[in-house]
Amino acid sequence: MSSLTLQNVSKNFGAVRAVQSVDLTVKDGEFISLLGPSGCGKTTTLRIVAGLELCDSGNVVIGDKDVTMMPPGERDIAMVFQDYALYPHMDVLDNVGYPLKVRGVQRAELQRRVHEVAVRLQIEALLERRPGQLSGGQQQRVALARAVVHPAKITLYDEPLSNLDAQLRNEARIFLKHLQQEVGATSLYVTHDQAEAMALSDRIVVMNQGKVMQIGTPMEIYRTPANSFVASFIGNPPMNLLACQVDASANLLRLGDGAALPFAGLRGSASLGGKSKVTLGIRPEHVTIHTTPKDGCLPARLYIIQELGSEILTVFHTEKQLVTVRLYTDEPPHFPEQVWLELNPAYSFLYDENGQLIS
Ligand code: ATP
Repeated sequence: MSSLTLQNVSKNFGAVRAVQSVDLTVKDGEFISLLGPSGCGKTTTLRIVAGLELCDSGNVVIGDKDVTMMPPGERDIAMVFQDYALYPHMDVLDNVGYPLKVRGVQRAELQRRVHEVAVRLQIEALLERRPGQLSGGQQQRVALARAVVHPAKITLYDEPLSNLDAQLRNEARIFLKHLQQEVGATSLYVTHDQAEAMALSDRIVVMNQGKVMQIGTPMEIYRTPANSFVASFIGNPPMNLLACQVDASANLLRLGDGAALPFAGLRGSASLGGKSKVTLGIRPEHVTIHTTPKDGCLPARLYIIQELGSEILTVFHTEKQLVTVRLYTDEPPHFPEQVWLELNPAYSFLYDENGQLIS
């Protein structure tokens, strides 16, 4: 295993700026996900690391070796693709053992190591079958087994679970996390599924339009999104983002409908000087519903209720915007026609007109 560093890596496809000045270090044994919407440059970044794509500028370093111009076969990288890319004419044993075979490992030793991995992945009963005789979930395990049978310096995953149904995906997530705890492979994992990224990763790189938006542990990016893009992308449902006017003379943030939050207690409020408009971000679990008027609260009416089992999501509409409130209850709630929403200032974030967190 090794560390992996991307230094100021950029890649254009004609006018498309697929990857823009990406800086990233994956520490030895660390599992990092690249997370972002379709087309944000995740796969291109991964392919640059694998050597399947050359970057226009910047460097890729594995351990202390610059591999920017090195062919893929010499980089000592294992890859798991979305389509698994299993060899259809080989049985599972030979598929999994392939990385060992090309490294000249003797047959008996190859069989022993494949068997060891197969037991861990619960595919030992499938070793004589061909990929066409396996379910999607089984194929995915075989692909994972092939990636881990020979410890490579870096393991790259490109949406390996995206073909699975929700249940298999959940099982695969548990398995992958456990495998990572056992093996500790240096891993870069591409996904657009935030729950998957949050569940698996030591750290997450949130990308948008080829750029890194934020790098942090799952809890860091959930708790303190560095910009309004991350705030709107991370969390299910995402953060409420509410347009506000800054009333510096009264030290208030006006949300419309007569609702106003005092600056006191709001993080970033000391830096509001000179700003007239900001966006207030608050997670649905940090909004409290009152059924009688309360100072500083936002008047609102019920829009919809989603009963999700372990929690209930309620969406209210104010004069101008929707606000989602999370209730940790399994009791269907009843609300009067009008309610007042209290935004907890300790969990409120202010974003400037460029979407950057005001701190
Ligand atoms: P997805 O989640 O949909 O796979 P992604 O985040 O992995 O998306 P990339 O596949 O890295 O995104 O693509 C980034 C941008 O580069 C996109 O606009 C894409 O259309 C473009 N792109 C990728 N490969 C090529 C190529 N070979 N030629 C031209 N444009 C490309």
